[in-house]
Amino acid sequence: MAGEHSRSLLGEDKPKEACGVFGIYAPGQDVARITYYGLYALQHRGQESAGIAVSDGERITCRKGMGLVSEVFIEDTLEKLKGRMAFGHVRYTTDQDSIVENIEPQNFYYQQGMIAIGHNGNLTNSAVLRREMEQAGAVFQSTSDSELIISMIVRAGASDLISGILKTMEKIEGSYSLLLMTEKRMIGIRDPYGMRPLCLGRFGDGYVLASESCALDTVGAQFIRDVEPGEVVIIDEKGVTSLRPHQPHQKALCIFEFVYFARPDSVIDGLSVQKARYALGRELARENPLDADLVIPVPDSGTSSALAYATERGLPFSEGLMKNRYVGRTFIRPTQANRELGVRLKLNPIRDIIAGKRVIMIDDSIVRGTTSGRIVQMIRDAGAREVHLLVSSPPITHSCYYGIDTSGKGELIAATHCVDEIRQHIGADSLNYLSISGLQAAVAPICPEDICNACFCGDYPIQVSGDK
Ligand code: SF4
Repeated sequence: MAGEHSRSLLGEDKPKEACGVFGIYAPGQDVARITYYGLYALQHRGQESAGIAVSDGERITCRKGMGLVSEVFIEDTLEKLKGRMAFGHVRYTTDQDSIVENIEPQNFYYQQGMIAIGHNGNLTNSAVLRREMEQAGAVFQSTSDSELIISMIVRAGASDLISGILKTMEKIEGSYSLLLMTEKRMIGIRDPYGMRPLCLGRFGDGYVLASESCALDTVGAQFIRDVEPGEVVIIDEKGVTSLRPHQPHQKALCIFEFVYFARPDSVIDGLSVQKARYALGRELARENPLDADLVIPVPDSGTSSALAYATERGLPFSEGLMKNRYVGRTFIRPTQANRELGVRLKLNPIRDIIAGKRVIMIDDSIVRGTTSGRIVQMIRDAGAREVHLLVSSPPITHSCYYGIDTSGKGELIAATHCVDEIRQHIGADSLNYLSISGLQAAVAPICPEDICNACFCGDYPIQVSGDK
């Protein structure tokens, strides 16, 4: 609960991404340092902990800790991480405990040597699988899906590691973009639904795997392609080997990557995130052609959509809320008694821009509605005559079971309130959301059938076991 409280105080009533992974196979290069920069580019996917594992061909060394990449790693630490390949992980906990044992990469000894694992996603049948494993004598030191997966791989009774991986993939369900590293090779796996992104790039004579293409750009790697849903990519001294052990599956890429999570400079499954966000604003303008004096975004993820909306409607666009980007994890949070301060530390209205105007404010989503009301009030206090809130995604009515923390269903304001009740709750003059068809149109050319939008409609592509 402490986390919930802190988040709402800071105006971060948003779905939370679970993790980001970055791996590089490049003998002769400073792989730990490159991984550090790759993780920096993926920091938006998880701010709670960070870690890097390096293999020198003989053994794997791992360093990790709670905090941002810049807080966990110092020059000295990177200097000591020497090897031919490395992979790193940034993490935001979802329903698993926020404990040190869960920080990734997780590193294990097994019969054939050492193996490290990092995971982005969430298994939907982990409780059932864990119970089966425990009944068979397995012990766990963390509550993470990653440890469960490793345990299943090494206990699969297979003749080699890859066969163990393929057998494990037949049993695990849910979303996963995984990186595994042994002393000699790196393995990337994307779940058969392709829910979470994973891409492959070239770095000199070596290769890179990353959650988002922005990390490839940052380290100077060339994008080759997205890892296909259900594909296993093995990188070693022979180059890249691709296995597709499963029958092609109906894809279900998380639509929220385009709405909020991914960086605008990333391209996922062929679609630019920036272009998709711009298209969301255009669709919003087609569906809700309002009149006003000014269009402002809730920064940063509302910016492209607000610009598109203003352009489409021929209305003036301006930044009207200034965001403080330096509020990190170690920030001393204000007490509950001073909630206003909490929001103002993160966002402050620009009075000269807003005063006397009829303002349209564009945000990407409303989860619990805790901060939208405070922001609307802030805009009014800055002198706005009217405040109209437009949301560039549909109402979130269902929880996510695939690795995104959208809060429990009981906390989702749109699960229990109609749009007008939400409008009254946040005190806006009007409130409108983008429709599901508008959302689907914005991410074309990705087919609607290839997308997960379950949190907007409850149509879950993967069933969830009763106790998960
Ligand atoms: S339920 Fe929502 S947040 Fe979760 S994977 Fe599907 S679209 Fe993404």
